[in-house]
Amino acid sequence: DVTATKGNEFEDYFLKRELLMGIFEAGFERPSPIQEESIPIALAGRDILARAKNGTGKTAAFVIPSLEKINLKKTKVQALLLVPTRELALQTAQVCKTLGKHMGVQVMVTTGGTTLKDDIMRLAETVHIIVGTPGRILDLAGKGVANFSECTTFVMDEADKLLSPEFTPIVEQLLTYFPKERQIMLYSATFPLIVKTFKDKHMVKPYEINLMDELTLRGVTQYYAFVEERQKVHCLNTLFSKLQINQSIIFCNSTNRVELLAKKITELGYSCFYSHAKMLQSHRNRVFHDFRNGVCRNLVCSDLLTRGIDIQAVNVVINFDFPKNAETYLHRIGRSGRFGHLGLAINLITYEDRFNLYKIEQELGTEIQAIPPVIDKRLY
Ligand code: ADP
Ligand code: MG
Repeated sequence: DVTATKGNEFEDYFLKRELLMGIFEAGFERPSPIQEESIPIALAGRDILARAKNGTGKTAAFVIPSLEKINLKKTKVQALLLVPTRELALQTAQVCKTLGKHMGVQVMVTTGGTTLKDDIMRLAETVHIIVGTPGRILDLAGKGVANFSECTTFVMDEADKLLSPEFTPIVEQLLTYFPKERQIMLYSATFPLIVKTFKDKHMVKPYEINLMDELTLRGVTQYYAFVEERQKVHCLNTLFSKLQINQSIIFCNSTNRVELLAKKITELGYSCFYSHAKMLQSHRNRVFHDFRNGVCRNLVCSDLLTRGIDIQAVNVVINFDFPKNAETYLHRIGRSGRFGHLGLAINLITYEDRFNLYKIEQELGTEIQAIPPVIDKRLY
């Protein structure tokens, strides 16, 4: 899922108009979380070490700043995008061409499979960005066919693979052809120790992005309340009147129940948004954006919004419907370890949920206590 979480827009980065056109034509409406984290930092020229799950838009996270920084009046190579395989090289070059479509940027792909002669001819003309695999690129640099003396952007995608013992010597050798003032950006889903060695040796105070943080239940006080299904709304009403809610997220197990509950809550006189899987993505983004900006105090949703709990202002999460498994529970209630703020999780438990409650508690090795008459405000 590449849905935005901060509510930034591509317009916020002051990109060249032609680049922005390419981005929108590619169908990208909003930057994904990894793009939000890395584009501004990359544009500022800092080294980056970025870790994010597969399918989260890492390619555009480095392609967009790489494109933006190209000086089109210069004929020399200004960015190298290094990748471990031919297929990925072709795919990455395609992203450059698509996003840079209106810029007049010259992108070249080179991998072990093509002839060196073709590359020599291609490099006789203007090339702004080279995408390729390590062996061939080093070959071109070593033979003086490609000139990296003004190449100030050096990106490694799937960096863990590029820094495996097989490739590391090649990469290190390659770096000797680069200017001293260069920006190194590493993107990967995993960062083994070998990457740290490279980082310490070659990178300057890299900005580290990690969107893989394990979810934790630390800092979250968890309670359950036994209720009958038909008492749930009444119970929720009581919670609303007793708790000091900054912002809350209320989870239901189905789309229908999300809408029905949101209606009930509104009737009770509390402001509330809702979001579920059957709504248009653009609508969901808008709701989420507004909720994050504090437009509304309560949000009812199904499980699609799980990352949303990282919203700092949310101090209460309510499982109106108890989740079926531990993973879902963790995603609803859990927070990223690096955010130390406190929170309250309240689970409405029906007779049928009893066994599940026990099971999830066991599985997560956590404690869910019976809700006390008065909840200490200092806990959330
Ligand atoms: P990763 O490298 O993290 O595995 P990719 O860069 O291959 O992910 O992107 C995964 C998919 O998401 C691609 O199909 C890409 O076109 C799409 N994508 C990337 N950024 C956005 C965005 N901001 N909005 C919509 N789709 C996007
Ligand atoms: Mg990728």
